[in-house]
Amino acid sequence: MSSTAIMWFRNDLRLHDNPALIAALEHEQVIPLYIHAPEEAEPYAPGEASCWWLKQSLESLETALQEKFNLTLQIRSGSSLAAIQNLIDLHDVESVYWNRRYEPALRRVDENIKKMLNADGLQVKSFNGSLIFEPWEIENQQGDPYRVFTPFYKRAVQMPSLPLQQLPDRQVTTFVQVGSKNLTIADLFLTSTFRWYNKFEGQWAIGEDAAHDRLMEFVNDDISIYKDKRDRLADHATSRLSAHLHFGEISPRQILHVTQQYKHDQNERNDGAIEAFERQLFWRDFGHHLLYHYPQTQDDVFNQKYTNFPWQHDDELLQKWQRGETGIPLVDAGMRELWATGSMHNRARMIVASFLTKNLGLHWLDGARWFWNTLVDADLANNTLGWQWSAGCGADASPYYRIFNPVTQGQRFDANGDYIRRWLPELAHLPNKIIHAPWQASTNDRPSDKSDTLSPDYPEPIVDLAESRKLALERYGAWKDNAP
Ligand SMILES: Cc1cc2nc3c(=O)[nH]c(=O)nc-3n(C[C@H](O)[C@H](O)[C@H](O)COP(=O)(O)OP(=O)(O)OC[C@H]3O[C@@H](n4cnc5c(N)ncnc54)[C@H](O)[C@@H]3O)c2cc1C
Repeated sequence: MSSTAIMWFRNDLRLHDNPALIAALEHEQVIPLYIHAPEEAEPYAPGEASCWWLKQSLESLETALQEKFNLTLQIRSGSSLAAIQNLIDLHDVESVYWNRRYEPALRRVDENIKKMLNADGLQVKSFNGSLIFEPWEIENQQGDPYRVFTPFYKRAVQMPSLPLQQLPDRQVTTFVQVGSKNLTIADLFLTSTFRWYNKFEGQWAIGEDAAHDRLMEFVNDDISIYKDKRDRLADHATSRLSAHLHFGEISPRQILHVTQQYKHDQNERNDGAIEAFERQLFWRDFGHHLLYHYPQTQDDVFNQKYTNFPWQHDDELLQKWQRGETGIPLVDAGMRELWATGSMHNRARMIVASFLTKNLGLHWLDGARWFWNTLVDADLANNTLGWQWSAGCGADASPYYRIFNPVTQGQRFDANGDYIRRWLPELAHLPNKIIHAPWQASTNDRPSDKSDTLSPDYPEPIVDLAESRKLALERYGAWKDNAP
């Protein structure tokens, strides 16, 4: 095909199994494009930790495009429509390709751009580049979206999934001399020096190759123990692929392809463990299914019963939670892990979210916004799902009376206190018996040299766990009985 196409990269920062890129490469000339337009994503412009990751992911994509196809990634900022139209005017572009996004604000942007370009006679094609199934492909017998995970999952695993898309092994011979001034990734000012997130440096390997290395390492070393150990807070038994998935450095189809192959090679030996892992990828699809069909849930409750539920706003309590200074060791360990690494173990996410919304009675959106800014894997669909699940107001949510007890959770999933010791060095000297609830320690339990003050640098609990649990149950119970 002798014409020019724009490949518009967004959250699909990879070359392989990228259907939009593969379609664009059918053309003789390809202009790969990235547009930084955070205002178009408002109120969910990428947070600081996301921007830190994005910068390196773009650098990795830029290098890969250059090495594989001799293509220069075009970088723009500002209005996406204006940037695309500018390239169209200058280069006689015929087609524009992208992989779909599902966040409500970004869907509106894409729909508008498609309409405008179609009206100008351009061919615009979009593809599924980041989910196992499109949100509209899975529906119940009445033709409605699912609201509960298990039937969604049962339906999804019966569906034939798309095969992997093969990248053509050819150089794009005609290099487009893009006339308008190209920005560099540095010009986007995604990060700045002396900021809190710079300590993530060296903790993560970013980009398409790194995502595949991580996957292979996980499959070879950990997938067989995933089911048994995924909840153990101190073990690194999960895949740590979530940010790679969010930025599209790897697709869920590629992951499933590898896990299915592994299952086959193992003669189905680790069947249960592999399925337990694959199931999580369907939770990710379910989150996108819900956000697509119920876009208002990005900042409104899914379960209408909770409209106007009296969650509180309290800056002082919120700040103590954010800083990991609640005096509840497991909650603080999770929050400090987040601040130090840009990530947090899934079980810790559930515990800190339950503590914020139920024990402290604070609004789930206050927690969700903090996660949005500080997680490298911040993802509107998954974050909304996780927070509404924890607060009890989501689809298929944790029931209101399920309030995680951080002490018993710690005793169960961090029995030796390793996770707490890793993130709260000021408690490292405490014996296992009291590390999860130092305030309950009797004089006999205390280390001899610390009999007066267990740890002078560590705060007393900001709430009484039993009392705040009782109050939360009363609050939720009364609401449940009186809600419309
Ligand atoms: C309050 C709260 C907020 C959360 N916010 C986010 C978020 O912003 N972004 C995000 O990607 N995940 C979020 N999660 C889900 C989950 O905690 C992370 O996906 C997981 O911890 C990532 O680690 P992993 O890649 O090692 O996961 P693994 O256990 O190895 O799972 C593999 C993949 O499945 C997906 N997945 C796993 N668990 C879930 C889940 N519960 N819901 C949806 N998808 C899942 C992820 O893409 C993950 O990479 C949140 C959970 C909670 C309780």
